[in-house]
Amino acid sequence: LPEVFLKAQPVLQALEDAGFEAYFVGGCVRDLLLDRHIHDVDIATSAYPEEVKKTFAKSIDTGIQHGTVTVLYGGEAYEITTFRTESGYQDFRRPDKVTFVQNLEEDLKRRDFTINTLAMNLSGEIVDLFDGLGDLQKKVIKAVGVAEDRFHEDALRMMRAVRFMSQLNFALEEKTEAAIADNHVLLSKISVERIREELVKLALGPNSQEAFDKFIDTGLSGECPGLAGQEEKLRVFTQLKGRITDEAVFWALLALIINLPVNKVTSFMRTWKNSNAMGQEAKAIVTAFDQVTMGQVSNWDLFVFGQNALTKALEAAALLGQPVSSQSLLDRYAALPIKDKGELAVDGGWLIKKGVKPSPALGDLLDRALKGVVLGQVANDEESLAAFLDL
Ligand code: ATP
Ligand code: MG
Repeated sequence: LPEVFLKAQPVLQALEDAGFEAYFVGGCVRDLLLDRHIHDVDIATSAYPEEVKKTFAKSIDTGIQHGTVTVLYGGEAYEITTFRTESGYQDFRRPDKVTFVQNLEEDLKRRDFTINTLAMNLSGEIVDLFDGLGDLQKKVIKAVGVAEDRFHEDALRMMRAVRFMSQLNFALEEKTEAAIADNHVLLSKISVERIREELVKLALGPNSQEAFDKFIDTGLSGECPGLAGQEEKLRVFTQLKGRITDEAVFWALLALIINLPVNKVTSFMRTWKNSNAMGQEAKAIVTAFDQVTMGQVSNWDLFVFGQNALTKALEAAALLGQPVSSQSLLDRYAALPIKDKGELAVDGGWLIKKGVKPSPALGDLLDRALKGVVLGQVANDEESLAAFLDL
Protein backbone atom coordinates (compact mmCIF):
# COMPACT_ATOMS: atom_id res chain seq x y z
CA LEU A 1 0.00 0.00 0.00
CA PRO A 2 1.22 3.50 -0.73
CA GLU A 3 2.48 5.59 2.16
CA VAL A 4 -0.66 7.79 2.32
CA PHE A 5 -2.76 4.75 3.14
CA LEU A 6 -0.29 3.31 5.63
CA LYS A 7 -0.18 6.61 7.48
CA ALA A 8 -3.97 6.72 7.61
CA GLN A 9 -4.48 3.14 8.79
CA PRO A 10 -4.30 4.04 12.51
CA VAL A 11 -7.17 6.48 11.91
CA LEU A 12 -9.39 3.67 10.60
CA GLN A 13 -8.15 1.46 13.40
CA ALA A 14 -9.12 4.03 16.05
CA LEU A 15 -12.64 4.25 14.65
CA GLU A 16 -12.94 0.47 14.55
CA ASP A 17 -11.60 0.18 18.09
CA ALA A 18 -14.28 2.64 19.18
CA GLY A 19 -16.86 0.25 17.71
CA PHE A 20 -17.58 1.92 14.37
CA GLU A 21 -17.19 0.93 10.76
CA ALA A 22 -14.67 2.89 8.74
CA TYR A 23 -13.49 2.72 5.13
CA PHE A 24 -11.29 4.49 2.67
CA VAL A 25 -13.69 5.65 -0.05
CA GLY A 26 -14.02 7.31 -3.40
CA GLY A 27 -11.22 8.80 -5.46
CA CYS A 28 -8.38 7.44 -3.34
CA VAL A 29 -9.45 3.81 -3.77
CA ARG A 30 -10.04 4.35 -7.49
CA ASP A 31 -6.61 5.93 -7.89
CA LEU A 32 -4.96 3.18 -5.83
CA LEU A 33 -6.37 0.55 -8.19
CA LEU A 34 -5.35 2.59 -11.24
CA ASP A 35 -1.89 3.05 -9.79
CA ARG A 36 -2.25 6.81 -9.99
CA HIS A 37 -0.76 9.31 -7.61
CA ILE A 38 -2.95 9.72 -4.51
CA HIS A 39 -3.08 13.22 -3.09
CA ASP A 40 -5.34 12.57 -0.14
CA VAL A 41 -7.52 9.85 1.32
CA ASP A 42 -11.17 10.26 2.25
CA ILE A 43 -12.65 8.22 5.05
CA ALA A 44 -16.29 7.25 5.53
CA THR A 45 -17.59 5.97 8.85
CA SER A 46 -20.72 4.87 10.64
CA ALA A 47 -19.75 7.16 13.55
CA TYR A 48 -21.65 10.43 13.90
CA PRO A 49 -19.57 13.60 13.74
CA GLU A 50 -19.70 14.02 17.52
CA GLU A 51 -18.46 10.47 17.95
CA VAL A 52 -15.64 11.03 15.47
CA LYS A 53 -14.58 14.09 17.44
CA LYS A 54 -14.57 12.13 20.68
CA THR A 55 -12.38 9.45 19.12
CA PHE A 56 -9.54 11.81 18.24
CA ALA A 57 -7.63 14.38 20.25
CA LYS A 58 -7.54 17.01 17.52
CA SER A 59 -10.26 17.80 15.05
CA ILE A 60 -11.77 20.70 13.16
CA ASP A 61 -15.45 21.10 12.30
CA THR A 62 -15.04 21.64 8.58
CA GLY A 63 -18.46 20.67 7.32
CA ILE A 64 -20.21 19.23 10.28
CA GLN A 65 -23.70 19.88 8.86
CA HIS A 66 -22.73 17.57 5.98
CA GLY A 67 -21.18 15.11 8.38
CA THR A 68 -17.55 15.92 7.75
CA VAL A 69 -14.99 16.32 10.50
CA THR A 70 -11.34 16.99 9.76
CA VAL A 71 -9.14 14.97 12.05
CA LEU A 72 -5.51 15.90 12.61
CA TYR A 73 -3.39 12.84 13.09
CA GLY A 74 0.31 12.17 12.63
CA GLY A 75 0.84 15.58 11.06
CA GLU A 76 -1.84 14.96 8.43
CA ALA A 77 -5.43 16.16 8.06
CA TYR A 78 -8.11 13.59 7.27
CA GLU A 79 -11.66 14.27 6.17
CA ILE A 80 -13.89 11.81 7.92
CA THR A 81 -17.49 11.80 6.76
CA THR A 82 -20.40 10.01 8.37
CA PHE A 83 -22.28 7.62 6.05
CA ARG A 84 -25.03 9.71 4.61
CA THR A 85 -27.66 10.01 1.93
CA GLU A 86 -28.81 13.13 0.23
CA SER A 87 -32.24 14.20 -0.85
CA GLY A 88 -34.03 17.18 -2.24
CA TYR A 89 -31.86 18.79 -4.93
CA GLN A 90 -34.56 21.33 -5.77
CA ASP A 91 -31.96 23.55 -7.34
CA PHE A 92 -30.01 20.99 -9.39
CA ARG A 93 -26.92 21.52 -7.31
CA ARG A 94 -27.17 21.05 -3.57
CA PRO A 95 -29.14 18.53 -1.62
CA ASP A 96 -31.80 20.14 0.55
CA LYS A 97 -31.10 17.63 3.20
CA VAL A 98 -28.43 15.14 4.19
CA THR A 99 -29.40 12.23 6.36
CA PHE A 100 -26.91 10.17 8.30
CA VAL A 101 -27.31 6.47 7.75
CA GLN A 102 -25.87 3.38 9.37
CA ASN A 103 -24.74 1.47 6.34
CA LEU A 104 -22.08 1.94 3.77
CA GLU A 105 -24.27 0.91 0.85
CA GLU A 106 -26.60 3.89 1.22
CA ASP A 107 -23.58 6.16 1.29
CA LEU A 108 -22.01 4.66 -1.82
CA LYS A 109 -25.28 4.90 -3.74
CA ARG A 110 -25.30 8.71 -3.62
CA ARG A 111 -21.89 8.97 -5.30
CA ASP A 112 -21.55 10.07 -8.88
CA PHE A 113 -19.82 7.37 -10.91
CA THR A 114 -19.36 3.66 -10.35
CA ILE A 115 -15.57 4.02 -10.26
CA ASN A 116 -16.01 6.53 -7.41
CA THR A 117 -18.09 4.15 -5.27
CA LEU A 118 -15.29 1.83 -4.29
CA ALA A 119 -14.47 1.45 -0.61
CA MET A 120 -11.61 -0.35 1.12
CA ASN A 121 -11.40 -1.53 4.71
CA LEU A 122 -8.45 -1.81 7.04
CA SER A 123 -7.44 -5.22 5.73
CA GLY A 124 -7.41 -3.97 2.17
CA GLU A 125 -10.64 -5.69 1.10
CA ILE A 126 -12.50 -3.80 -1.59
CA VAL A 127 -16.22 -3.20 -1.27
CA ASP A 128 -17.66 -2.98 -4.77
CA LEU A 129 -21.44 -2.69 -4.82
CA PHE A 130 -21.90 -1.08 -8.23
CA ASP A 131 -19.34 -2.93 -10.32
CA GLY A 132 -16.88 -0.10 -10.08
CA LEU A 133 -14.10 -2.65 -10.54
CA GLY A 134 -15.64 -3.84 -13.80
CA ASP A 135 -15.90 -0.27 -15.04
CA LEU A 136 -12.33 0.46 -14.01
CA GLN A 137 -11.32 -2.48 -16.13
CA LYS A 138 -13.52 -1.39 -19.02
CA LYS A 139 -12.25 2.14 -18.55
CA VAL A 140 -15.67 3.77 -18.54
CA ILE A 141 -17.27 6.62 -16.65
CA LYS A 142 -20.72 5.37 -15.76
CA ALA A 143 -23.27 7.08 -13.55
CA VAL A 144 -24.49 5.17 -10.51
CA GLY A 145 -28.12 4.22 -11.09
CA VAL A 146 -30.20 6.21 -13.56
CA ALA A 147 -27.86 8.75 -15.13
CA GLU A 148 -30.58 11.24 -15.92
CA ASP A 149 -31.71 11.35 -12.30
CA ARG A 150 -28.18 11.77 -11.05
CA PHE A 151 -27.56 14.78 -13.26
CA HIS A 152 -30.86 16.30 -12.18
CA GLU A 153 -29.71 15.97 -8.59
CA ASP A 154 -26.42 17.68 -9.27
CA ALA A 155 -25.63 19.10 -12.68
CA LEU A 156 -21.94 19.55 -11.88
CA ARG A 157 -21.59 15.78 -12.26
CA MET A 158 -21.85 16.26 -16.04
CA MET A 159 -18.66 18.31 -15.99
CA ARG A 160 -17.05 15.84 -13.62
CA ALA A 161 -17.81 13.08 -16.13
CA VAL A 162 -15.86 14.71 -18.96
CA ARG A 163 -13.14 15.83 -16.55
CA PHE A 164 -12.58 12.23 -15.38
CA MET A 165 -12.55 11.09 -19.02
CA SER A 166 -9.62 13.38 -19.57
CA GLN A 167 -7.75 12.67 -16.35
CA LEU A 168 -8.18 8.91 -16.40
CA ASN A 169 -8.20 8.33 -20.14
CA PHE A 170 -11.61 6.69 -19.90
CA ALA A 171 -14.62 6.63 -22.22
CA LEU A 172 -18.14 7.79 -21.36
CA GLU A 173 -20.57 4.94 -20.98
CA GLU A 174 -23.34 5.23 -23.55
CA LYS A 175 -26.33 5.99 -21.31
CA THR A 176 -24.29 8.38 -19.23
CA GLU A 177 -23.31 10.27 -22.34
CA ALA A 178 -26.88 10.34 -23.64
CA ALA A 179 -28.10 11.69 -20.30
CA ILE A 180 -25.53 14.49 -20.43
CA ALA A 181 -26.57 15.37 -23.97
CA ASP A 182 -30.22 15.47 -22.87
CA ASN A 183 -29.58 17.53 -19.75
CA HIS A 184 -26.68 19.80 -20.63
CA VAL A 185 -28.78 22.93 -20.08
CA LEU A 186 -28.87 22.15 -16.37
CA LEU A 187 -25.22 23.14 -16.21
CA SER A 188 -26.41 26.74 -16.19
CA LYS A 189 -27.54 26.15 -12.59
CA ILE A 190 -23.96 25.60 -11.47
CA SER A 191 -21.65 28.39 -10.38
CA VAL A 192 -18.98 29.44 -12.86
CA GLU A 193 -16.22 28.78 -10.34
CA ARG A 194 -17.16 25.13 -9.99
CA ILE A 195 -17.50 24.67 -13.76
CA ARG A 196 -14.15 26.37 -14.25
CA GLU A 197 -12.41 24.07 -11.83
CA GLU A 198 -13.61 21.01 -13.76
CA LEU A 199 -12.83 22.53 -17.15
CA VAL A 200 -9.25 23.32 -16.14
CA LYS A 201 -8.75 19.77 -14.88
CA LEU A 202 -10.20 18.50 -18.16
CA ALA A 203 -7.88 20.71 -20.19
CA LEU A 204 -4.77 19.60 -18.32
CA GLY A 205 -5.60 15.89 -18.38
CA PRO A 206 -3.80 13.41 -20.63
CA ASN A 207 -6.94 12.55 -22.62
CA SER A 208 -8.18 16.09 -23.06
CA GLN A 209 -8.70 15.77 -26.80
CA GLU A 210 -11.46 13.18 -26.51
CA ALA A 211 -12.86 14.85 -23.43
CA PHE A 212 -13.12 18.17 -25.29
CA ASP A 213 -14.94 16.32 -28.05
CA LYS A 214 -17.57 15.11 -25.61
CA PHE A 215 -17.67 18.48 -23.83
CA ILE A 216 -18.66 19.98 -27.19
CA ASP A 217 -20.82 17.11 -28.56
CA THR A 218 -23.02 16.88 -25.50
CA GLY A 219 -23.73 20.61 -25.52
CA LEU A 220 -21.94 21.31 -22.26
CA SER A 221 -19.59 23.84 -23.86
CA GLY A 222 -22.57 25.90 -25.03
CA GLU A 223 -23.59 26.44 -21.39
CA CYS A 224 -20.23 27.97 -20.50
CA PRO A 225 -19.43 31.69 -20.38
CA GLY A 226 -18.54 33.04 -23.81
CA LEU A 227 -18.62 29.63 -25.49
CA ALA A 228 -22.17 29.39 -26.83
CA GLY A 229 -22.11 29.00 -30.60
CA GLN A 230 -18.34 28.42 -30.65
CA GLU A 231 -18.55 24.65 -31.10
CA GLU A 232 -16.68 24.50 -34.40
CA LYS A 233 -13.83 26.67 -33.20
CA LEU A 234 -13.55 24.71 -29.97
CA ARG A 235 -12.85 21.57 -32.00
CA VAL A 236 -9.31 22.88 -32.36
CA PHE A 237 -8.82 21.58 -28.82
CA THR A 238 -9.36 18.08 -30.19
CA GLN A 239 -6.45 18.49 -32.62
CA LEU A 240 -3.72 20.01 -30.52
CA LYS A 241 -0.19 18.83 -31.23
CA GLY A 242 0.48 17.84 -27.64
CA ARG A 243 -0.67 18.12 -24.08
CA ILE A 244 -1.53 21.37 -22.31
CA THR A 245 0.57 21.51 -19.17
CA ASP A 246 -0.21 24.94 -17.80
CA GLU A 247 -3.44 26.60 -16.74
CA ALA A 248 -2.60 30.03 -18.15
CA VAL A 249 -1.63 28.44 -21.46
CA PHE A 250 -5.05 26.81 -21.54
CA TRP A 251 -6.85 30.13 -21.05
CA ALA A 252 -4.70 31.81 -23.67
CA LEU A 253 -5.42 28.97 -26.10
CA LEU A 254 -9.12 29.27 -25.41
CA ALA A 255 -9.04 33.02 -26.10
CA LEU A 256 -7.04 32.46 -29.27
CA ILE A 257 -9.20 29.64 -30.52
CA ILE A 258 -12.41 31.63 -30.22
CA ASN A 259 -10.64 34.58 -31.88
CA LEU A 260 -10.99 36.90 -28.95
CA PRO A 261 -9.22 40.22 -29.57
CA VAL A 262 -6.44 40.91 -27.06
CA ASN A 263 -8.35 43.75 -25.45
CA LYS A 264 -11.25 41.42 -24.61
CA VAL A 265 -9.14 38.81 -22.86
CA THR A 266 -9.29 40.30 -19.36
CA SER A 267 -13.05 40.71 -19.40
CA PHE A 268 -13.46 37.18 -20.76
CA MET A 269 -11.27 35.90 -17.94
CA ARG A 270 -13.42 37.81 -15.48
CA THR A 271 -16.62 36.21 -16.76
CA TRP A 272 -14.97 32.90 -15.85
CA LYS A 273 -14.27 34.31 -12.36
CA ASN A 274 -10.55 33.87 -12.80
CA SER A 275 -8.19 35.81 -10.54
CA ASN A 276 -6.80 39.10 -11.85
CA ALA A 277 -3.36 37.52 -11.91
CA MET A 278 -4.58 34.69 -14.14
CA GLY A 279 -6.37 37.21 -16.36
CA GLN A 280 -3.22 39.27 -16.79
CA GLU A 281 -1.10 36.25 -17.48
CA ALA A 282 -3.47 34.95 -20.15
CA LYS A 283 -3.54 38.38 -21.76
CA ALA A 284 0.26 38.61 -21.74
CA ILE A 285 0.50 35.21 -23.41
CA VAL A 286 -2.05 36.14 -26.09
CA THR A 287 -0.18 39.40 -26.74
CA ALA A 288 3.14 37.62 -27.10
CA PHE A 289 1.53 34.91 -29.23
CA ASP A 290 0.09 37.42 -31.68
CA GLN A 291 3.50 38.98 -32.20
CA VAL A 292 5.64 35.87 -32.37
CA THR A 293 3.28 34.28 -34.88
CA MET A 294 3.31 37.40 -37.04
CA GLY A 295 7.12 37.45 -37.11
CA GLN A 296 8.84 40.82 -36.57
CA VAL A 297 9.77 40.52 -32.92
CA SER A 298 12.29 43.07 -31.71
CA ASN A 299 14.52 42.53 -28.68
CA TRP A 300 12.50 45.21 -26.97
CA ASP A 301 9.34 43.15 -27.60
CA LEU A 302 11.06 40.12 -26.09
CA PHE A 303 12.00 42.14 -23.02
CA VAL A 304 8.42 43.41 -22.64
CA PHE A 305 6.94 39.90 -22.96
CA GLY A 306 9.27 38.54 -20.31
CA GLN A 307 10.36 34.95 -19.95
CA ASN A 308 7.04 33.59 -18.71
CA ALA A 309 4.74 35.01 -21.38
CA LEU A 310 7.29 34.29 -24.09
CA THR A 311 7.80 30.61 -23.25
CA LYS A 312 4.08 30.09 -22.77
CA ALA A 313 3.23 31.84 -26.04
CA LEU A 314 5.72 29.56 -27.80
CA GLU A 315 4.10 26.59 -26.09
CA ALA A 316 0.69 27.74 -27.33
CA ALA A 317 2.05 28.20 -30.86
CA ALA A 318 3.55 24.69 -30.80
CA LEU A 319 0.26 23.19 -29.60
CA LEU A 320 -1.60 24.96 -32.39
CA GLY A 321 0.98 23.83 -34.93
CA GLN A 322 1.96 27.38 -35.84
CA PRO A 323 5.42 27.63 -37.36
CA VAL A 324 7.52 29.79 -35.06
CA SER A 325 11.29 29.74 -34.72
CA SER A 326 11.08 29.20 -30.99
CA GLN A 327 14.70 28.36 -30.38
CA SER A 328 16.04 31.50 -31.99
CA LEU A 329 13.57 33.64 -30.02
CA LEU A 330 14.55 31.93 -26.79
CA ASP A 331 18.24 32.33 -27.62
CA ARG A 332 17.71 36.01 -28.33
CA TYR A 333 15.80 36.39 -25.10
CA ALA A 334 18.56 34.65 -23.14
CA ALA A 335 21.11 37.01 -24.67
CA LEU A 336 19.30 40.20 -23.56
CA PRO A 337 21.65 42.30 -21.40
CA ILE A 338 18.97 42.63 -18.73
CA LYS A 339 15.68 40.80 -18.22
CA ASP A 340 14.00 43.15 -15.80
CA LYS A 341 13.63 46.90 -15.19
CA GLY A 342 15.10 46.39 -11.72
CA GLU A 343 18.42 45.35 -13.23
CA LEU A 344 18.99 48.78 -14.77
CA ALA A 345 22.11 50.35 -13.18
CA VAL A 346 20.39 53.71 -12.66
CA ASP A 347 17.06 54.90 -11.27
CA GLY A 348 15.07 58.09 -10.68
CA GLY A 349 17.11 59.00 -7.60
CA TRP A 350 20.31 58.85 -9.63
CA LEU A 351 18.82 61.13 -12.31
CA ILE A 352 17.81 63.67 -9.69
CA LYS A 353 21.34 63.64 -8.23
CA LYS A 354 22.53 64.30 -11.76
CA GLY A 355 20.43 67.46 -11.75
CA VAL A 356 17.29 66.28 -13.55
CA LYS A 357 14.15 67.87 -12.07
CA PRO A 358 11.37 65.49 -11.01
CA SER A 359 9.15 65.77 -14.08
CA PRO A 360 7.69 63.69 -16.91
CA ALA A 361 11.02 64.21 -18.65
CA LEU A 362 12.64 62.15 -15.93
CA GLY A 363 10.45 59.20 -16.83
CA ASP A 364 11.34 59.62 -20.49
CA LEU A 365 15.06 59.59 -19.65
CA LEU A 366 14.65 56.39 -17.65
CA ASP A 367 12.78 54.81 -20.56
CA ARG A 368 15.55 55.81 -22.94
CA ALA A 369 18.15 54.36 -20.60
CA LEU A 370 16.20 51.11 -20.29
CA LYS A 371 15.68 50.76 -24.03
CA GLY A 372 19.30 51.62 -24.70
CA VAL A 373 20.51 48.89 -22.36
CA VAL A 374 18.00 46.28 -23.53
CA LEU A 375 18.88 46.93 -27.18
CA GLY A 376 22.59 46.79 -26.43
CA GLN A 377 23.20 50.41 -27.46
CA VAL A 378 24.82 51.28 -24.15
CA ALA A 379 26.51 49.37 -21.35
CA ASN A 380 24.56 49.02 -18.12
CA ASP A 381 26.71 51.20 -15.85
CA GLU A 382 26.35 54.74 -14.51
CA GLU A 383 29.18 56.27 -16.49
CA SER A 384 28.07 54.88 -19.84
CA LEU A 385 24.45 55.79 -19.17
CA ALA A 386 25.35 59.38 -18.16
CA ALA A 387 27.12 59.82 -21.49
CA PHE A 388 24.30 58.12 -23.39
CA LEU A 389 21.74 60.48 -21.87
CA ASP A 390 24.00 63.59 -22.26
CA LEU A 391 24.05 64.27 -18.51
P1 ATP B 1 -10.05 14.07 -7.29
O1 ATP B 1 -9.94 14.39 -5.83
O2 ATP B 1 -8.92 13.31 -7.86
O3 ATP B 1 -10.42 15.24 -8.10
P2 ATP B 1 -12.27 12.50 -6.39
O4 ATP B 1 -13.04 11.39 -7.02
O5 ATP B 1 -11.59 12.20 -5.12
O6 ATP B 1 -11.27 13.06 -7.48
P3 ATP B 1 -13.61 14.55 -4.95
O7 ATP B 1 -14.29 15.76 -5.47
O8 ATP B 1 -12.43 14.67 -4.09
O9 ATP B 1 -13.27 13.68 -6.24
O10 ATP B 1 -14.73 13.69 -4.23
C1 ATP B 1 -14.48 12.54 -3.45
C2 ATP B 1 -15.60 11.51 -3.67
O11 ATP B 1 -16.86 12.09 -3.30
C3 ATP B 1 -15.76 11.09 -5.12
O12 ATP B 1 -14.89 10.03 -5.45
C4 ATP B 1 -17.21 10.69 -5.14
O13 ATP B 1 -17.39 9.41 -4.59
C5 ATP B 1 -17.87 11.69 -4.23
N1 ATP B 1 -18.33 12.91 -4.94
C6 ATP B 1 -17.66 14.06 -5.12
N2 ATP B 1 -18.38 14.96 -5.78
C7 ATP B 1 -19.56 14.37 -6.03
C8 ATP B 1 -20.77 14.79 -6.66
N3 ATP B 1 -20.88 16.00 -7.21
N4 ATP B 1 -21.78 13.91 -6.71
C9 ATP B 1 -21.69 12.68 -6.16
N5 ATP B 1 -20.60 12.23 -5.56
C10 ATP B 1 -19.54 13.05 -5.48
MG1 MG C 1 -10.49 13.71 -3.89
